[in-house]
Amino acid sequence: MTYSYTQISQYLNCPRRYRHRYLDGWQEKDTRAAMVFGRAFERALGAYFLREDSAAALFREWAVYQDQQLRYSNGDSWNRMLQQGIQLLDRFCQDDRIRIRQPRHNLQIKFTRRVSEKNDFVAYIDAFGKLDGTRCLIEWKTTSSRYPEEPDGLLALDPQLVCYSWMTGIAEVTQVVFVRKRLVEVQYLRTTITDEQRQEFGQLVEDTIGRIESARFLPHSGIRFPQNPCSTCPYVALCLGRQDVVETALVRRPGAVNLGWLDELAY
Ligand code: SF4
Repeated sequence: MTYSYTQISQYLNCPRRYRHRYLDGWQEKDTRAAMVFGRAFERALGAYFLREDSAAALFREWAVYQDQQLRYSNGDSWNRMLQQGIQLLDRFCQDDRIRIRQPRHNLQIKFTRRVSEKNDFVAYIDAFGKLDGTRCLIEWKTTSSRYPEEPDGLLALDPQLVCYSWMTGIAEVTQVVFVRKRLVEVQYLRTTITDEQRQEFGQLVEDTIGRIESARFLPHSGIRFPQNPCSTCPYVALCLGRQDVVETALVRRPGAVNLGWLDELAY
C-alpha cells in the first residue's frame, strides 16, 4: 500500500471522510475553479523556470477550461483569474528571489519512503532551489487571500511542510504564496523544521496507518456548528444519506485505495 500526506491528513480530519474517499472510491468532481487554476498556474511556473513564455503557458493551460462549467467563488471569473495569474507571474519575475538550477530535475520531484514492511509513503515536492541565496525545499500555493504571518514562526507548524521535510531530510522550507486579490501579491514565507518535528511526524504516520489498517473509521468532524467542517465537507451528502445530491457533487472510482498517491498531483 502506498500512502501520501493527503491520505494521512484526510484520516486525521475525519476517519469517515477517509473511508468515503479511499475505501468506497467517492471523489469530488474536479469543478472548483480555484483548484483547476492552481494546477494551470503551477505549469506556467514550470515554463518560467524553463525560460519559456510563462504567460502563454498559463493561457494555454487555463484555456482548456474556458467553456467548462467550473464553480467560481468570490466574484471570480475565467478572465479575471487569467489577468491575475499574468500579473502574479510578472511580479514573481520582477522579484527574482527564487532560483532553480536544472529545472527539469528540480521541479515536481517524486520521493518514496518505506514506512513498514508492506507500506510506502510517497510525496511530490514542488521544487528544490534557493530563496535569496539560501537552499530550501519550495512549495507553491495560489490563494485568494494572504496567508497569516503572525504569530512569528507559525509556518513551522504547517503539517504538509513538516511532512515534506520528513520525506527529504531538508530542514529549510519555503512557501511561495501567489495571492489573487485586487492588487496581486507574492508572499515568500520561510521557516526551519527541527529534527524533533520530523521524528514526531514519522510517529504520526506510523500511528495513523495502524488505525487505518485496524479499520477504525468512526466519524468525528471535531468542531461544533457553525464551524463544523461537515458544512464544507464534499462528503456531507453521503453522511446525510442524501443520494440525490451525491451524484451532483461526487464521482465514484472503485479501487481508489490504490490510487491515493494521485491526490498528491492535484493542486
Ligand atoms: S460530513 Fe462530517 S462526518 Fe461526514 S465525512 Fe465529512 S467531516 Fe466526516
